[in-house]
Parts: sequence; C-alpha cells; structure tokens
Amino acid sequence: MNQNSPTTLDVTLGARSYPVWIGRGLLADAARWRERLRGRHVLVISNTTVAPLYLDRVTRGLEGLKWASFLIEDGEAHKSFANVERALAALAELGATRDACVIALGGGVVGDLAGFSAACWMRGIDFIQMPTTLLSMVDSSVGGKTGVNLPAGKNLVGAFHQPRAVVADIDTLATLPDREYRAGLAEVIKGAAIGDEPFFAWLETHADALAARDDNAVVEAIARKLRYKAGVVARDETEQGERALLNLGHTFGHALETAGNYTMLLHGEGVAIGMLLAARLSERLEMSSAADTARLQRLLETVGLPVAIPPGMDAQQLLALMRLDKKNTAGTLRLILWRGIGKAEIVAGVGEDDVLATLQAAIA
Ligand code: NAD
Ligand code: MG
Repeated sequence: MNQNSPTTLDVTLGARSYPVWIGRGLLADAARWRERLRGRHVLVISNTTVAPLYLDRVTRGLEGLKWASFLIEDGEAHKSFANVERALAALAELGATRDACVIALGGGVVGDLAGFSAACWMRGIDFIQMPTTLLSMVDSSVGGKTGVNLPAGKNLVGAFHQPRAVVADIDTLATLPDREYRAGLAEVIKGAAIGDEPFFAWLETHADALAARDDNAVVEAIARKLRYKAGVVARDETEQGERALLNLGHTFGHALETAGNYTMLLHGEGVAIGMLLAARLSERLEMSSAADTARLQRLLETVGLPVAIPPGMDAQQLLALMRLDKKNTAGTLRLILWRGIGKAEIVAGVGEDDVLATLQAAIA
C-alpha cells in the first residue's frame, strides 16, 4: 500500500462535511490534516496508554502553533464530567479562541470525551478525531455522537458535534490487544449485517485476512463500514429514524454487558452475541432463514468473536435488563431485527415471550 495515498471518503453534511482518511503513516502526515485547522490553538487529548506510543507523531506536526496536551487515565470510568472540566481548564490555560481545535488521539473513550469538550468550549469549536482502536476507527469517530458517563448511567450526557476530519492511521493498530481488535471487527460485521449484503459476502471471503490483520483487508473493511455508516448519518444525523438500525444486537448486547458487570464482555463482544440472538429471534418470528443465522454465526466465529451467552447468566435476568434498555410498551420490546443479511429493520411490539424463548434456547 502506498503510504502517501490513504483511502479517503467524505461524510456529507452540507457545510459540516468532513473527510475521513484511512491508511498508514497518517498521524505523522501533518501536512494533510493541518489543512483542516482554522486557527493557531490546538489541545491534544489522549490517555496514559496511548500518549507514550503515539503522541509524539502528532505533536511533531504542530510546530509553529500554540498547543498543549491533556491526558486522562485509561478506562471507561474516566469518560467523566470531571475530565470535561479539566479539559476545558486546559483550553482556558492555552488561551484557546473560537477557532481553536481539539485533537482526540485514542479510542472511543478519548474521542467521546474530547468531542464533547470541544462541543462545550465557547459553545462549540472544531475537533479532529485520530482514532487508535479498530472500534473507534469504524464506529465512534464518525457520526458526531459525543458525550460522557454519569454515575447514573453510560452516555447520559452528550451532544451531536461532528469532527472537522477523521485521521485513521492503521499503524496504531499494531499495539492494540487482539481482544480489542476483534471487538472492533464486531462493529464492522454489524454494518454489513444491517444494510450491505455485498460487504457481508466480502467479509466472509476476507475473514482470515482480517483475523490476521492484513493491511489491505483492514483498510478496505474500515472504509466499507464507514461508507455505510456515513450514508446512514447523512440521511439521519440525529437518529430520528434509520440511524437506530445501527443498534442491531445492542439491546441484547447491553443486557449481556450489564449482566457481566461490564468486566466479563467488551462492548463488541456483547454486540457479537447480541446480533446472533437478534438473528435467532428474527428466525423464530419467521422474518429470516436459518441459513442467514448460520452465515452470521460462522463469520463471527471465523474472526474469533464469542457467539454464546457466558455461563452463569440467566434468561429472566437478561430479559429484565432488556426491558430497561429502551422505552418499551408493557409486555413488548422495540428491537432491531432483520429479514436476512443486509436487511435490518426496527420492529416494535416484539413479545417478551419470544425474546425469553430465544434467550432460554441459547442458554440451554
Ligand atoms: P477505549 O477507548 O477504552 O480503548 C480500548 C483500550 O485500548 C483502552 O485501554 C485504550 O487505552 C487502549 N488503546 C487505544 N488505542 C490503543 C493502541 N493503538 N494500542 C494499544 N492500546 C490502545 O475503547 P473503545 O473500544 O475504543 O471505545 C469504547 C468507547 O466508545 C465507549 O465509551 C463507547 O461508549 C464509545 N462509543 C461511542 C460511539 C459514538 O458514536 N460516539 C460509538 C461506539 C462506542
Ligand atoms: Mg456499538
């Protein structure tokens, strides 16, 4: 692959449109991303795991500008209001003006926090996403959802705030642990499963290359997932309709993550199992075929994702957690199901008995 010509796509949102660059050597290619800066002030937000590995590559490109860095500790617990306040204090200290830019260098935790801090400073300044996990490259860096957690729950506070650019340098994946990498693949497979059957078929033929982290396969997978997501976001930026489809597997997945106290399963792992449960429920409701379920299961297994509910979890408990996940009407749930690969739909009024039976069959 040519280091100097990344794969490029555009997220089309009128005056707020932005480029996404995917490829190798992009963090150090400041000439490219500096074009997206409007002013002289830059705050780079990262964490204590990522900064020692990659902060230099970015800050070497900030010569001549007034810049500072702000590091948070590693982990979901640090996607907090307290750290937004600290980030804003760092912007104040820098003397950041309205044309300042925040750079988010890290996974989804850093991206969500940095984006929300940028949305708050002077009612909204620019930010650039430099995602360093596969999950953040294929999911959280694009689409403009930003926010932080409260003690009362995850992602309860936030804003829609689109980045000025997304710089996905796949060289950073070299240090990403395998389990985190595979969790990112779950969100890739999800995009194909929802609305892009040709991409799903491509994933089936490239599953081994992806599991082996082949550069060309990784770039193409990221680009195809983001092209799909960018289309959805362009049509439904604030999730009035279609964007909800991106939650395929998430109601089951969140229940599994919660039942595992957020320590047993990574989000992507919960989504993998959750998508398969959604496929089985769809099959039970005669919306889709067993062959589609089998294709999904095989692809998830080939890339090394879990497909079974972890031992010790209880169907009634999972159903109770799913009830809390969304505003459902009594006795029924609103879920993302599918009519087969690439044909996800929002289905209201799904009977709890069918959901329970699906969970019980998976646990038995
Ligand atoms: P994360 O940011 O916690 O990163 C996972 C782990 O990998 C962390 O320990 C991190 O320090 C480490 N890491 C990051 N880059 C690395 C690298 N290159 N080498 C080695 N280690 C590295 O988790 P994530 O999975 O990237 O993101 C999850 C977060 O994203 C959650 O907070 C979730 O709510 C959010 N999210 C947001 C959206 C959105 O649309 N805004 C979408 C999906 C998820
Ligand atoms: Mg997700």
